[in-house]
Amino acid sequence: MKGLIKVDQELCKGCQLCIAFCPQKGVLSSAGKVNSAGYLPVVFNDGSECTGCAICAIVCPEVAIEVYRD
Ligand code: SF4
Ligand code: SF4
Repeated sequence: MKGLIKVDQELCKGCQLCIAFCPQKGVLSSAGKVNSAGYLPVVFNDGSECTGCAICAIVCPEVAIEVYRD
């Protein structure tokens, strides 16, 4: 199964829990650009091996992640 996620750049507080729990490597990384609250949000890397497992969305304390599967 292929998946993709959307991270709300303003809701994300940059805790990186989603990166720690994602079973796939290289799918999520730090944006390198602060949001308006001063946090470094996480971004989804297009072309990566996201499976749509939704673990990232489940662990996110800010409910900043939406998961899509095809
Ligand atoms: S849906 Fe699963 S594979 Fe995709 S970014 Fe989230 S934890 Fe990683
Ligand atoms: S778990 Fe949520 S708040 Fe934490 S870095 Fe990931 S998207 Fe941002």
